[in-house]
Amino acid sequence: NYRCRSAFKLLEIDDKYDVLRPGLSVVDCGAAPGAWSQVAAQRVNAAGERPDLPRGSVIGIDLLHIAPLEGAHFLSNQDITDPATHAALQRLLPQAQADVILSDMAPNASGLRELDHERLVSMCLSLLELADKILRPGGSLVCKYWDGGLTHKLRDGLARAFRDVRTVKPKASRKESSELYFLARTFRNT
Ligand code: SAM
Repeated sequence: NYRCRSAFKLLEIDDKYDVLRPGLSVVDCGAAPGAWSQVAAQRVNAAGERPDLPRGSVIGIDLLHIAPLEGAHFLSNQDITDPATHAALQRLLPQAQADVILSDMAPNASGLRELDHERLVSMCLSLLELADKILRPGGSLVCKYWDGGLTHKLRDGLARAFRDVRTVKPKASRKESSELYFLARTFRNT
């Protein structure tokens, strides 16, 4: 029982690319209402439901309130682009490091397609600063974006920081929407 249908997009991405494994620590950006965190908590064994497997962790952040979830720690009413949030994450993460950064963030849509695209790209670019602070070398990042004129800028930024970057369009994502995901793997952190 997921809090939102968006869960199926992450399930699809993870079934194909195996990003989430038991024992990993995950930061979920733009986590409200919490469906991606539910998927992540299950797959990294954050609640310890499988005592035979390593136990991971999930920290979710959102501008909005996020209702509690077994195995997850939520930072509600916080902006992921704020350096104070980065510092809070460093304090909360095991060894101050995450294995995976997830972002299904989206700005409030203005209805102007190119403007919304640009806003979301700049939010995604701020995830690269977050990655420099908390992502373990070898780690991965999944981020939603809306396709548009600045997509190449985001892809280039990711390609500088990660060895492998690919575009993913989950079937669960409406065909007519410009919504896509970047999956960036093997963080270099040099
Ligand atoms: N993945 C979520 C789930 O499965 O439940 C759905 C996420 S929803 C599509 C996008 C979220 O991004 C919204 O809840 C919004 O408040 C959040 N958001 C937008 N800008 C943000 C920011 N700067 N910092 C944190 N969260 C943000």
